[in-house]
Amino acid sequence: MKRNDLAIHGGKPSCNRMPPRMLPGGNSIGKEEEDAVIDVVRRKRLFRFYGATDGPSRVAEFERAFCQYMDVPYAISVNTGTSSLMCGLAGIGLEPGDEVIVPAYTWISSPAAVAIMGGIPIIAEVDETLTLDPADVAGKITPRTKAIMVVHMRGASARMDELLALAREHHLYLVEDTAQSCGASYKGKKLGTMGDVGCFSLQFQKIITCGDGGVTICSNVDTFKRCIMLHDVVAGTREGFPRLAPDDLRPAMNLRMPELSGAVALVQLGRLDGLLTGMRQRKQAMKNGMRDALQSAGGSFRSIVDEKGDASIALIFFLPSIDQTDFAVKALRAENIDATFLYRPDCVDNHVYAHWRAILNKQTWTDRGGPWRWGEPVEYSRDMCPSSLDLLSRAVHIDVNPLLSMEEIDQIVAGLDKVLNAL
Ligand SMILES: *Cc1c(COP(=O)(O)O)cnc(C)c1O
Repeated sequence: MKRNDLAIHGGKPSCNRMPPRMLPGGNSIGKEEEDAVIDVVRRKRLFRFYGATDGPSRVAEFERAFCQYMDVPYAISVNTGTSSLMCGLAGIGLEPGDEVIVPAYTWISSPAAVAIMGGIPIIAEVDETLTLDPADVAGKITPRTKAIMVVHMRGASARMDELLALAREHHLYLVEDTAQSCGASYKGKKLGTMGDVGCFSLQFQKIITCGDGGVTICSNVDTFKRCIMLHDVVAGTREGFPRLAPDDLRPAMNLRMPELSGAVALVQLGRLDGLLTGMRQRKQAMKNGMRDALQSAGGSFRSIVDEKGDASIALIFFLPSIDQTDFAVKALRAENIDATFLYRPDCVDNHVYAHWRAILNKQTWTDRGGPWRWGEPVEYSRDMCPSSLDLLSRAVHIDVNPLLSMEEIDQIVAGLDKVLNAL
């Protein structure tokens, strides 16, 4: 393949169009969501615990359906994924000064939720799975560690066997941030169901969505009571939850999910398996089609610990050098393939710890140190996780958009072939 066949050098682009925005659930919104919302409005039932008329709560129905889908006994719906993490951390009984290990690659909400709840985020390396590196986690456990926050990034599971074993060995809680991997699994178990709590987001970019929303799931009733107590200042007086004693209440927040959102979330949950099937088929075709070219270019796919369980929202591969990654992303974009970098030092992206200024600078509401004044001194720096930065800066990310036809997937494969062969 000659370099001048590349679209970046004036050749014809492999793909006829840039794909539509990657919004799997968002793009699938249809008549069912519309009807569900209209029904809530007509019934004047916009609040979870009562309406202007009698009738069922869609939020409660969504929770029952979510429990069934995940095969867990307890779920509480909240207003965002960040709130679902805060409820999960309340669920495990996080206290001021407790350390929680978080990965270097995750949306800033993960460490922010820890700090908001009074904990101290400890940042650990990710490996070529782009999820927590168990060896680095082991080295960062101290007597103050309360929990490991596992984040299943970009649709795929973390190394759960190793991380669960570490948690057991050191008597730590395991919090699963499943915001980006709803419906994915690990060895037949749904992500979010293996830790002490599983936290999900229904924000508009996630696999299924109600615009903004979240869910926290767990299997232990006492954990669940703490989750629901954080989510509603008077949770103990509400119907439909495990009984709370009057003395059991804590000062809390109001993080409730609105009925309009619950109605949409319930319909979207019904779309989840169909979306996953569509994305899995497309990702497999892309991987099979580009495998040889990637190998010839000296690159490798992101390690996926359970291929069958991968939600398949994204295809990520590593190239040998940053220069090649730079060139590949630009050349792929010229082919109308929506390739992106995962890390550039000068391009702010709050998925990478080096850009988490609020955390690295220990910013709080006063200058007295916030959660950091409670624990042992912790130091952060932009280069504290060098292998994560190395991997992320050599990564090329391509959305696996369920709206692309299989013909368009073939065009993407042709474009990948062209660019990888030119490296
Ligand atoms: C989106 C996301 C969150 C936060 O969810 P919101 O609904 O936006 O609050 C947390 N963690 C990860 C990994 C996410 O991708």
